Amino acid sequence: MPKNRKRILVTGGAGFLGSHLCDRLVGQGHDVLCVDNYFTGRKENILHLMNRPNFEVMRHDITFPLYVEVDEIYNLACPASPVHYQFDPVQTTKVSVLGSINMLGLAKRVGARILQASTSEIYGDPSVHPQTEDYCGNVNPLGPRACYDEGKRCAETLFFDYSRRHNVQIRVIRIFNTYGPRLHDSDGRVVSNFIVQALRGEDITIYGDGSQTRAFCYVDDLIDGMVAMMGADEDVPGPINIGNPHEISVLTLASRIIALTGARSRLVRKPLPQNDPTQRCPDISRARQLLNWEPRVSLDEGLRRTIAYFADRMAQPASAGIS
Ligand code: NAD
Ligand code: UDP
Ligand code: UDP
Repeated sequence: MPKNRKRILVTGGAGFLGSHLCDRLVGQGHDVLCVDNYFTGRKENILHLMNRPNFEVMRHDITFPLYVEVDEIYNLACPASPVHYQFDPVQTTKVSVLGSINMLGLAKRVGARILQASTSEIYGDPSVHPQTEDYCGNVNPLGPRACYDEGKRCAETLFFDYSRRHNVQIRVIRIFNTYGPRLHDSDGRVVSNFIVQALRGEDITIYGDGSQTRAFCYVDDLIDGMVAMMGADEDVPGPINIGNPHEISVLTLASRIIALTGARSRLVRKPLPQNDPTQRCPDISRARQLLNWEPRVSLDEGLRRTIAYFADRMAQPASAGIS
């Protein structure tokens, strides 16, 4: 066990990123409390941790108060895929706003350091490219993505107000599109959609003309950055962009996935969703300088690992998983 063993709360710990974070922290010997309401998270993602003595799970919705004693809090609870966060938009805003207030109130009471999983979506459809942390964004407050974008923007405001007003030690990272094993196969995000479609030999759905860009970060790199930010000795509240600056179009992503799976899928056009950002790419100079962090896993390598995960899942009988 490490000398500096901590009691760490991970909200949203049964989700895609949260479960990888729990793996990392449990592996480091910390006492990890995973809190999740299983809206998009799955027990299956954390099943392998259940018999570890330093791992605990609590079913709880963070829009309600939570009284526990911890040293650090990673606040990840919030659906991240447009399909999921638009399913109940008011609840999405509540998770970011009420959920953050509760977790900040908890951090204030117990003197814990708290990290917020913010998002590149706070930049909206950006007019500055690549996006630096100083850019204030271009978000439509009325559109279908606003419940997520504006909720996350308000959460950042709350973090900085609790820091200024109550001296809570905060860390804010802005996560750019991240992918890897344990992405939900039906959550509609582009990497999981394309991989599942390719493996099934179905048409690959390109929204719009496919020229819109994103920069995709492999999950292990993202977790490295997140943990480095929480652990930084200096007072680095952020916000800090964490993502992979290798920008590609949606069409290029489709062609890489077709090449790596050997699929015979056709590309078919679908309407571009409303307010879909045309380009997105992080400037990670600040993360490089302050955290000495940058991503290491190439797109092809990350896609190979993710394809292997989905191929394995699809080979299992439909009833095998516990959702
Ligand atoms: P995810 O949907 O897999 O995980 C979110 C988790 O939060 C799920 O386990 C869900 O059940 C849980 N949750 C939702 N509402 C809750 C509530 N009220 N109380 C308790 N638990 C609740 O998504 P993810 O991709 O793992 O994203 C994790 C965090 O990272 C989110 O805050 C998201 O906004 C942020 N983020 C992710 C990405 C990405 O590309 N994956 C990009 C930017 C930001
Ligand atoms: N809270 C919580 N756990 C705690 C402490 C506080 O969930 O351990 C919640 C509590 O419901 C409160 C919110 O966090 O409404 C904000 O707490 P704070 O102390 O900032 O403000 P309060 O509303 O108590 O004045
Ligand atoms: N996209 C697509 N086909 C799909 C799913 C998504 O062309 O089957 C596009 C989507 O319109 C967007 C990009 O891929 O331009 C990334 O979408 P995702 O939902 O993964 O993330 P976000 O838009 O939140 O960055």
